Amino acid sequence: EVVFVSRETDPAESRVAASVETVKKMRALGFDVIVEAGAGAASRISDADFTAAGATVGTAAEAKGADVVLKVRRPSTAEIKSYKPGTAVIAIMDPYGNEKALAAIAKAGLTTFAMELMPRITRAQSMDVLSSQANLAGYQAVIDAAAEFDRAMPMMMTAAGTVPAAKVFVMGAGVAGLQAIATARRLGAAVTATDVRPAAKEQVASLGAKFIAVEDEEFKAAETAGGYAKEMSKEYQAKQAALVADHIAKQDIVITTALIPGRPAPKLVSRDMLRSMKSGSIAVDLAVERGGNIEGSAPGKVVDVEGVRVIGYLNVPGRIAASASLLYAKNLVTFLETLVGKDTGALSVNPEDELVKATMLTRGGAVVHPNFAAADS
Ligand code: NAD
Repeated sequence: EVVFVSRETDPAESRVAASVETVKKMRALGFDVIVEAGAGAASRISDADFTAAGATVGTAAEAKGADVVLKVRRPSTAEIKSYKPGTAVIAIMDPYGNEKALAAIAKAGLTTFAMELMPRITRAQSMDVLSSQANLAGYQAVIDAAAEFDRAMPMMMTAAGTVPAAKVFVMGAGVAGLQAIATARRLGAAVTATDVRPAAKEQVASLGAKFIAVEDEEFKAAETAGGYAKEMSKEYQAKQAALVADHIAKQDIVITTALIPGRPAPKLVSRDMLRSMKSGSIAVDLAVERGGNIEGSAPGKVVDVEGVRVIGYLNVPGRIAASASLLYAKNLVTFLETLVGKDTGALSVNPEDELVKATMLTRGGAVVHPNFAAADS
């Protein structure tokens, strides 16, 4: 059976869905691997690297012969047409709000899997693209902030005087936030963090940062069974905003990562809060693609809001594409392995498998995922 690795058509996408390591792995699993020419260029994997790992380098037209297509982003209308019906496509499908695209994909007869819907269970940890990519985004957010900041991050005691440590405040201490905390600490910043999930408190403390939050009864019950944040009440948000307002005024850098599944990102930093910050302060909004945590942040831009440089880069993992691709490719191949029949060595999708149940969007001409099934009727 043939795996085709696409070169991403979206110019904003620098990642690739395979690496030297994963091509070798797929060859060992018995697949023929075709990599589209130039697919790895932006991730520093050359066609020659892929060839040496056992792949063939080909054109986009060769996707027609594939049984499996590996991608970073959901295939475009043109790409859909270039696959044969029955092809399995594994990618970050971004299905929410894209029901039309999903219906077209179903109609083309493709079997698609959305990697970002992978359940967060132990068995699937090595396939968790949200975690692998958010981790890198949290790191890169600090690097981006440091690059815009015109002061030093660590405290420096020199013969010429003392430079104070930068004060960094991380809002949202999930996967990205915890890595941002760790990275800012490594650079020597004085780090504080907040979250609405009580479990985050200990994780923040274990990284050597101080936890800042209104810890009332609502806070103590704020985590869902899946470990995600709930949308907080208006009352809680107001109390938390007052606490944060006092705190932010003393910070040099704010990094926001707060998301709520299926909801727009909560607005956490107001223009008033930005205005209260010192001249030269920096804010990074990692939630900008989901509506943003910071008032005035702009998707894909660095803007000045109330005297603060607000960074709103899109596809932050793609800013460190070489690392992001390595991890993403590994997540994909680990999942692909579960779709290969142990005794047959052939692709066999078991609709009863919980990973398949959670991620499979379309199959046999229909949208099959319960969250989106209405889209094709
Ligand atoms: P996420 O990307 O959905 O959200 C980022 C963070 O923002 C979360 O910590 C959330 O609580 C926080 N947040 C939401 N609203 C907020 C508000 N108003 N103020 C402050 N913070 C707010 O979350 P995530 O990074 O995907 O992680 C969610 C949870 O899943 C965490 O507990 C994480 O440890 C857990 N997780 C488990 C696994 C696994 O078991 N395999 C893998 C990854 C993550």
